[in-house]
Amino acid sequence: MFEYAPAPESRAIVDIKPSYGLFINGEFVDGTGTSFKTVNPATEEVLAEVAEASDADVDEAVKAARRAYTRVWSRMSGAERAKYLYRIARIIQERGRELAVLESIDNGKPIKESRDVDVPIVAAHFFYYAGWADKLKYSGYGETPLGVAGQVIPWNFPLLMLAWKIAPALACGNTVVLKPAETTPLTALLFAEICQQADLPPGVVNIVTGAGDTGRAIVSHPDVDKVAFTGSTEVGKAIARAVAGSEKKVTLELGGKAANIVFDDAPIDQAVEGIVDGIFFNQGHVCCAGSRLLVQESVADEVLERLKRRMSTLRMGDPLDKNTDVGAINSGEQLKRIRELSEVGDAEGAERWEVACDLPTKGFWFPPTIFTGVSQAHRIAREEIFGPVLSVLTFRTPSEAVEKANNTPFGLSAGVWTDKGSRILSMANRLRAGVVWANTFNKFDPTSPFGGYKESGYGREGGRHGLEGYLKGEAS
Ligand code: NAD
Repeated sequence: MFEYAPAPESRAIVDIKPSYGLFINGEFVDGTGTSFKTVNPATEEVLAEVAEASDADVDEAVKAARRAYTRVWSRMSGAERAKYLYRIARIIQERGRELAVLESIDNGKPIKESRDVDVPIVAAHFFYYAGWADKLKYSGYGETPLGVAGQVIPWNFPLLMLAWKIAPALACGNTVVLKPAETTPLTALLFAEICQQADLPPGVVNIVTGAGDTGRAIVSHPDVDKVAFTGSTEVGKAIARAVAGSEKKVTLELGGKAANIVFDDAPIDQAVEGIVDGIFFNQGHVCCAGSRLLVQESVADEVLERLKRRMSTLRMGDPLDKNTDVGAINSGEQLKRIRELSEVGDAEGAERWEVACDLPTKGFWFPPTIFTGVSQAHRIAREEIFGPVLSVLTFRTPSEAVEKANNTPFGLSAGVWTDKGSRILSMANRLRAGVVWANTFNKFDPTSPFGGYKESGYGREGGRHGLEGYLKGEAS
């Protein structure tokens, strides 16, 4: 095993303020509610005090969004709106290092991911939807925006989820009120500064921070025309109930329990990389994570042996270190959930194997872990753990793989590893998942629609399909 000298990225590039207000009508304001602390999950250091938006604050934000929609944004030509989106995209690129460092500090993800994956895809999203703003007549979903979009996002990809929500909404001519997750508000607040820097008209983007109550106030506000939510299936169901019977258009991007299926003719070393990327990328805090490995029985021993060897080389620790592969769990609460569900795996008789490593004494950490001897009935095979924990099942025939893969309430993503193109196509047709990756995993591109079936939600984000949720949809 190699020893690496520490190679930490400097945090001096980021100016974290002691306290943050709400971003309403183009300005930071105090708000009328209380406040909460956001912490660095790798050290438990308190980073800042952040305003908790009250119902009255949410109302102010929605009013600002409505004014901006009626007076400015919906009247502007698509080509003019595109200029703002391009400007935002370019500023994101210019300030990319700052955004990446702040994301890693507030979220716990390794800097090489925030720097090389999150931030570049965020910029790409704004570039991509800037291109659509003056071409909506070719979208197939009409050209008329909905009005004010209320958007609520989770903590696993704070800036990326913001981009998935805000870029298409603005391109279509809507204005937004967005709430980041309570454990990761800081990059959304830096994004608010970027909106100021881009001279975005006041009220087009409003960022209100807070927890579930603030989210509830946004989605149930009577003057919100569209609700876009990414988060857990449980909260997604509550939101669907809250807006039922209203005129609001809704898209829900919820949980997953993806099968990553490895056939015996797959290139094993590549598949092992894909398994590792599928479940340990972003500490497994990925809705489409390949958290169920389905491996063909004839190669199961070989795959597991090589997987364990590869896992033993993963470097875990300081998220700001450029050599780190696996960072911190986002919060103490999430760590507790991962521990509890893993203990259920032990109690159900599955066999736990984890990487032997020294965990830091401060912060929230969980070692990359696999469970073998898992059966369909086990809770660790059915429920989303949302952490670096892989459940391993075996199969003999392609039909058995399909049956096991589809035997879940979720339907967000799946992976297929095989040498045969015809098998890839036939599996992709039979798997009930919104995204099927073949001989790769966790690949995201702004041009490609993403979304689920069943309890993974409805609606698509990304690509031309991502415009549908933000347009009135009259025949064009
Ligand atoms: P969560 O549902 O607890 O919280 C998500 C957001 O909703 C947070 O901002 C939270 O403050 C807010 N919220 C909580 N209660 C609310 C309510 N009653 N009304 C309105 N808003 C409310 O989820 P989480 O733990 O932050 O995120 C993890 C979950 O998100 C996982 O299940 C994961 O699979 C899912 N996720 C899905 C996708 C996707 O695209 N399908 C992407 C990322 C994460």
